[in-house]
Amino acid sequence: MIKKIALVAHDARKQELVSWVRFNAGSLKDCRLFCTGTTGRLVEEALAEVLGDDMPVIDKLLSGPLGGDAQIGALIAEGKVDMLVFFCDNLIMQGHQNDVMSLVRLASLYNIPFATNRSTADFIISSPLYRDDSYERIIPACIESYKNRKL
Ligand code: PGA
Repeated sequence: MIKKIALVAHDARKQELVSWVRFNAGSLKDCRLFCTGTTGRLVEEALAEVLGDDMPVIDKLLSGPLGGDAQIGALIAEGKVDMLVFFCDNLIMQGHQNDVMSLVRLASLYNIPFATNRSTADFIISSPLYRDDSYERIIPACIESYKNRKL
């Protein structure tokens, strides 16, 4: 089954993400990638250098500050993302900090494998469970009970 991976990096950490993408190009080439706009452009350039024509499909969404983080959050809520790599700037607040927090909340709520730093991203993508199609991500019971709550 093709894995759907969302990639987002704030400006101060874009080169770190590009380096991670190069290191993991062999794993990423068989995935479908969803990226915020500028991150997606850099990821595409890096993968093209390493992989040539053997490129994954890369969906470049809006730039983060213009709604791209919110688009990725919506994809997670719709069950369309299997893993999120989100290298956020830990030193400054963003103009779209609310969207950043929303994305983190939704990744946590929907039990998405979710890395905010490089070593965690490496561990997830190299995990045997990552490649195991029989592994089913548990959707937390609170989601179903919230949908059916009595008011
Ligand atoms: P960008 O957005 O990839 O378009 O720079 C990332 C973000 O700031 O969330």
